[in-house]
Amino acid sequence: MQDFQLPPARITPLQKKLYQLRKVEVDVLRLDELHPFISGNKWFKLKAYLREAAEQGKGVILTFGGTFSNHIGATAAACRLCGFRSVGIIRGERAKVLSPLLQEAQEAGMALHFISRTAYREKAVPEAAFSATGKEDVYVIAEGGYGPKGAEGARDMVPKGAGAAYTHLLAAVGTGTSLAGLAGAALPHQQVIGVSSMKNNYELEAAVARLLPRPAPYTILHDFHFGGYAKHTEALTDFMNACYAQTGVPTDFVYTAKLFFAADHLIEAGYFPPGSRLLLVHSGGLQGNRSLPKGTLIF
Ligand SMILES: *Cc1c(COP(=O)(O)O)cnc(C)c1O
Repeated sequence: MQDFQLPPARITPLQKKLYQLRKVEVDVLRLDELHPFISGNKWFKLKAYLREAAEQGKGVILTFGGTFSNHIGATAAACRLCGFRSVGIIRGERAKVLSPLLQEAQEAGMALHFISRTAYREKAVPEAAFSATGKEDVYVIAEGGYGPKGAEGARDMVPKGAGAAYTHLLAAVGTGTSLAGLAGAALPHQQVIGVSSMKNNYELEAAVARLLPRPAPYTILHDFHFGGYAKHTEALTDFMNACYAQTGVPTDFVYTAKLFFAADHLIEAGYFPPGSRLLLVHSGGLQGNRSLPKGTLIF
């Protein structure tokens, strides 16, 4: 495996009047700035898998995702940089025009195979996906990088030393792998809070627990989905614009906008005692904003 590393992420303060009023400090871990394609948290989730694949002598990484999956884009780019071939099993029919994300994945060298939603649910990999190499050379990563190795890598998201000052660590939740990393790495005085990007996915709590080598506390909030996964409302896009205008920090409508909104809502409601120091994990995903109608966002 070719040596590839990302620089440590910056931590920048988020300044809003509300925070002064409630006497809390809010910082942002800018994973969104780390790489244009391996967006945000995705490198951390991938790296332990890639290392294991290299140890097993595998040359091909195969993984799963939907048309707009940031995990697919990140896997394609990371594989190219680390010297693996990559195969993406994509849910649903091939569209006449590929999404920008899938186009980029293909340009990074990923072979795309489209399968029906039913086949996808069963994770039925078509034989053709193995044809170039044979099954022996293939290392499979689950959808979204979900798994203990993903959580193990995600423990490194918060730079060592920098994190101890915070009382609360907050992150957006898809599969929960990153949240498991945060919970696993958190210090005893820190609370870990996840904001689910999905509607009524109450299986997440158990899904996160399964990834932890030993039990660790965390809370998942389910009331900030804005209609469901990848759904949004005008209130959310207005919030994204206001947040950018006030702080200069861009968010994505699928994950991080819901996280930032939830944080403000909780702060407003007095959820955090005065003196609390919050770290919001900006897990990236900004390229996903391309699917919003032009002119929706001011950034
Ligand atoms: C993939 C993704 C997440 C979800 O991470 P999980 O580890 O699957 O919970 C959160 N934010 C962004 C921007 C993502 O792309």
